[in-house]
Amino acid sequence: MKVAVIGAGAMGSIYGAHLAMGGHDVWLIDLWQEHVDTINQYGLKIFYNNNPETVKIKATSNPLNVKHTMDLLLVFVKSYHTEPALKNCMHLIGDETKLLTLQNGVGNVDILERFVSKSQILAGTTAHGANVRAPGQINHAGKGKTIIGRIDGNNMKSDEELVSSFIACGLETELRDGVEGLIWDKLLVNVGINPLTALLSIKNGTLLENEETEKLMEILVGEAWEVAKKGGLLLSHEDPVGHVKAIARATGENKSSMLQDILKGRMTEIDFINGAIVHKGKEWEVATPYNELITLLIKAKEKLAYQN
Ligand code: NAD
Repeated sequence: MKVAVIGAGAMGSIYGAHLAMGGHDVWLIDLWQEHVDTINQYGLKIFYNNNPETVKIKATSNPLNVKHTMDLLLVFVKSYHTEPALKNCMHLIGDETKLLTLQNGVGNVDILERFVSKSQILAGTTAHGANVRAPGQINHAGKGKTIIGRIDGNNMKSDEELVSSFIACGLETELRDGVEGLIWDKLLVNVGINPLTALLSIKNGTLLENEETEKLMEILVGEAWEVAKKGGLLLSHEDPVGHVKAIARATGENKSSMLQDILKGRMTEIDFINGAIVHKGKEWEVATPYNELITLLIKAKEKLAYQN
């Protein structure tokens, strides 16, 4: 398979490395020049349990250096970069090219649909965890399942082949109908945990240690649940609020990705998490005042983080 990974930071590098080691022809495309240069000179180093493995893989910061169309385009930029990143890579997309997003949040598929037909888009969730250690070096923090499928629900024979290729490369993967509900399951978890932990600078578990934060979680997730129901989405849990609390408890010692972004002075994916609830709420006529408020608070916090 000819594969281009757009956005080869933490997650893009993990998937790109597995596919390259499995014998696929992989290009990593990333704007971070030092990272690209290090990968081309020394290889991509993946650390799992502190053991480094070096992978030989092609990397470029200029998509025009890649001349042919791809079988698979794996989109792994942060959600707020999906649109500009895709614009630079249109020459890599042919009629047979599939685009796969495993990014967090909701809204990336809508962006992809502006560029290609729905029949070319696959989406899903990943339970891998990773972070960037240094240019050319990635920590693979945790392994987990990848679940993919078509947003329109019509999975095809070629999708099964894609899943088999991922599995052969050591990526535990499943093809599933109704993947949109699964993406929303994960969205609701992020809606309840991410902004509150980021605003209050607390670990996930602390949310359950005082009644105010627990109440706010319930309200944010409750609004999101109403939006999901109105949109006809099939969630996996009968009690999504209880599910989000269980995840906060199970990941009690973790710092959410949004808290980490704020602490590092980076933009967050709020527009694709609580902001997506507000957006879809407007579209489907469900009031989401608490999600709107928290989206604005995070945006204000982002600006303060830039200034400091
Ligand atoms: P990251 O910041 O490590 O990587 C994103 C990369 O995209 C960066 O290296 C950046 O230089 C690059 N980039 C930005 N604009 C670009 C452009 N126009 N063209 C090409 N490259 C560009 O982010 P990440 O942690 O790998 O997360 C990627 C997505 O995966 C996010 O949606 C995140 O929520 C999701 N996710 C991450 C994890 C995790 O553990 N890191 C787990 C599950 C899901």
